[in-house]
Amino acid sequence: MPIFEYRCKECGEKFETLVFPSARSEPVKCEKCGSEQTEKLMSAFASGGLNAGSGYSGSSAGGCGSGGFS
Ligand SMILES: [Zn+2]
Repeated sequence: MPIFEYRCKECGEKFETLVFPSARSEPVKCEKCGSEQTEKLMSAFASGGLNAGSGYSGSSAGGCGSGGFS
């Protein structure tokens, strides 16, 4: 999915949003002030705002089955 970075001309807020092909003609509103005066920035993933995936490792509790209940 295409993720584009936008900047609000009203408050200067920068945010990233998903742009679906069906909603391409709709104006992108600012997440902060709700203004439609936004402009699309070309360099997504440049500022490193999204910090996803921090190496979550679970499933370490291995209980030995075969309960000896006798
Ligand atoms: Zn704004």
